[in-house]
Amino acid sequence: MGYDLDRFEQQVDEEFICPICCMVLEDTVEAPCQHVFCSGCINQWLDRESNCPSCRERVVQSDLRPGPRSLRNLLGKLEIKCDFGREGCRRTVKLEHLAAHIRECDYNPRKMVKCTKGCEMELQSCQMSAHSCVKDLRKLVDELRTEQKRMFEEFKTALSKKEAEMSQLQNRVEQMLRITGASQNEATIQYRVLNITSLNGMVLSHGVFVQNFEWKIKAKHFLKNYGNETTNPSRSLGFYLCCHEKLGSRTWRCTADVELRLISQKDGVKDIVERFQRDFTSESFFDSWGIPNFIRWDELMDPARGFIKEDSILLEVRFRMI
Ligand SMILES: [Zn+2]
Ligand SMILES: [Zn+2]
Ligand SMILES: [Zn+2]
Ligand SMILES: [Zn+2]
Repeated sequence: MGYDLDRFEQQVDEEFICPICCMVLEDTVEAPCQHVFCSGCINQWLDRESNCPSCRERVVQSDLRPGPRSLRNLLGKLEIKCDFGREGCRRTVKLEHLAAHIRECDYNPRKMVKCTKGCEMELQSCQMSAHSCVKDLRKLVDELRTEQKRMFEEFKTALSKKEAEMSQLQNRVEQMLRITGASQNEATIQYRVLNITSLNGMVLSHGVFVQNFEWKIKAKHFLKNYGNETTNPSRSLGFYLCCHEKLGSRTWRCTADVELRLISQKDGVKDIVERFQRDFTSESFFDSWGIPNFIRWDELMDPARGFIKEDSILLEVRFRMI
């Protein structure tokens, strides 16, 4: 719908009139036949018809283009009275400045104003008389809280979905390892122990499966007497191979050739290697075999010895079931 002719002080030229609403063009668009209309008017027309209301040539909505620039420029220079004349605004502005004036017009009930009673909330001026700072701020807090709750629930749902996916994948990996492990009778586990200087107690590597047993490396900061100095020779690295079978399985026994290796991380330094053959049995649920004093702790911690690098050591176990 165009602008009411009453709002213009001068006589408005015929070419600025929309042939549909017979008012001054608002948001001008042009059909391929070069007839121009208000965007609102012609779109409404084309909802029902497929032709130009002036010349009946075929037109559809996607044919419409913005009106000619020269026409729009001339329209923009027309002087128009403010929308809120009836409310008391006496201003007349160029049509091209009307939108900017409306936003700022003091008679516009939807003009955004800042509360001066203390809360500084932005409100439409018509809402200001009913506004109470405390009540409206509380409402805002409640709205934010609801939004936050909703986001939190969404996040929780997404997270638990990902967790379920992860554990499913984890199970598949374990299954695959069991399948490949079942046919195999030897394996090598390599394990980099990070933050070795602060190792307190023991750590376990990832598991590998050989003939349905799960095998892991265990590294332990071994103390003969608790509370000694770090340099005390009674501290050592315990290095073990653990054989771990699932609960509920029947009595079992196996024999394996084992090689424990502390890998050198410095050129010219040899690995420390220990080999032995052991029986592993179901007697203890979580059985481990190894050497409690594989290397003295102070030697292990000495960078010059070549086994510690960037606070990590590298352990390897090769074993073969007999
Ligand atoms: Zn119109
Ligand atoms: Zn036409
Ligand atoms: Zn005004
Ligand atoms: Zn307020």
